[in-house]
Amino acid sequence: MPLRPLDIDPALCLINGQWQPPAGGATLPLTNPSDGSALCEIARGTAEDIDRAVAAATAARAGAWGRATALERGRILSRIGALVLENADELARLEALDVGKPLKQALADVNALARYMEFYAGAVDKLHGTTIPYLDGYTVYTLREAHGVTGHIIPWNYPMQIIGRSVGAALATGNAAVLKPAEEACLTALAFGELARRAGLPDGALNVVPGLGAEAGAALAGHPGVQHVSFTGSVGVGKLIQKAAGDNVVPVTLELGGKSPQLVFDDADIDAALPFLVNAGIQNAGQTCSASSRILVQRGVYDRVVSAMAERYAALRVGPALSDLDVGPLISTRQRDIVRGFLERGSDLEIAAQATLGDLPENGAYVAPTLFAGVAADHPLAQDEIFGPVQVIIPFEDEAEALAIANGTDYGLVASVWTRDGARQMRLARALHAGQVFLNNYGAGGGVELPFGGTGLSGHGREKGFEALYGFTSLKTVAAFHG
Ligand code: NAP
Ligand code: MG
Repeated sequence: MPLRPLDIDPALCLINGQWQPPAGGATLPLTNPSDGSALCEIARGTAEDIDRAVAAATAARAGAWGRATALERGRILSRIGALVLENADELARLEALDVGKPLKQALADVNALARYMEFYAGAVDKLHGTTIPYLDGYTVYTLREAHGVTGHIIPWNYPMQIIGRSVGAALATGNAAVLKPAEEACLTALAFGELARRAGLPDGALNVVPGLGAEAGAALAGHPGVQHVSFTGSVGVGKLIQKAAGDNVVPVTLELGGKSPQLVFDDADIDAALPFLVNAGIQNAGQTCSASSRILVQRGVYDRVVSAMAERYAALRVGPALSDLDVGPLISTRQRDIVRGFLERGSDLEIAAQATLGDLPENGAYVAPTLFAGVAADHPLAQDEIFGPVQVIIPFEDEAEALAIANGTDYGLVASVWTRDGARQMRLARALHAGQVFLNNYGAGGGVELPFGGTGLSGHGREKGFEALYGFTSLKTVAAFHG
């Protein structure tokens, strides 16, 4: 099935600027999670395809792409960004069909992808080394150099955003990339490859090889021709990636999700907080690494917050992606069943509210958004990443208890604090274990400018913002003796 209007065949891989069938000639079925219908067949890339993609990327680095100036790379990224915006409606429709995202949320991802291209296009010619004062007779300076070939293994929840933040920064800095999208969501990755080709990106600078994680993904993570691996996904697979890259002694960036809290104090502006408290949990049906799945509320405002959140939950509308309601299906019936398993583990808990599922397609992957209240901080639903539209509310007495609960998981991705007390804002911003802390907001609109990444089981390394340009380069020190 060609994907109009880009006219690409999803049963092919993009290797060395050519669309070609995978080495084994095999395909995998792609499903529309809104109704369980078959969408199309995608390529089942193998280790052999990864070999060819890495060879093409290596050749690109040795050729015109390796010699391109920051200005030239930036201009190509600008053109990719413009093409993304020109094809925004089609990209959003593909993502909605493939991932189950309500159209508005899919369109927000398209805009984020374009923003990454614009940001890195404009940033990369401002990336430079420094000169270092040293001994008499020396001039010492540093160079920022591309790693070489970068591997990008991405999940199904935000394909376009994650391509933007990792592939965008890697290409901007002159790396040649091999992208392995998730087998459950690869249409926009293929479309992105085609747009990059049309924007004039040299052959081999970006290769897209769909396939299974255990096949194409594992081959990419452990490939000796890859000099940096960027992974977003589950903790279990992240550990495998780190081990595989470790065998080749190459750096990895791991973004592995979280159990991110929002702390709501008695003195907070509750009306301002409410939309963020709920949206941060149900956006993308809760399948967001930085979802806020724990809401910590001080006793004085506890009843008010529980009932106001419950009211919002009861009003949530769930439906197929193309009907563009508040919440779509999950990525798959497999993920739906995982989330249902969590709901069963919460059968001892108080349900504060649950959205009503209306008349939905029988084979869709729907879960009713569910809000639990009065949850103990050590309950499995307050500790484990659920990756579905489920939030728990945990009461607390004072700042010390709130901090202990907030920091009391193995994760550390994002946290937010709702309080009017400026000193408390400063104390907690330092004390919270998280890669991003938000004060009186959550997510700050997800700006591409804001460095992102975690601590603990949430991973390490930073993507997004200028910081990513450091991550996708290595530093060389040059010391010249001239007397
Ligand atoms: P996953 O298995 O970690 O998948 C992420 C990516 O890694 C996909 O491209 C996947 O390929 C690939 N992969 C899987 N096994 C691999 C291996 N052995 N070597 C190399 N690559 C491999 O995540 P998932 O199965 O999609 O979701 C499971 C759970 O992960 C979720 O319930 C959620 O808790 C968490 N998750 C977190 C994030 C996040 O943003 N941090 C995103 C998604 C999921 P295939 O999918 O094609 O097999
Ligand atoms: Mg998977």
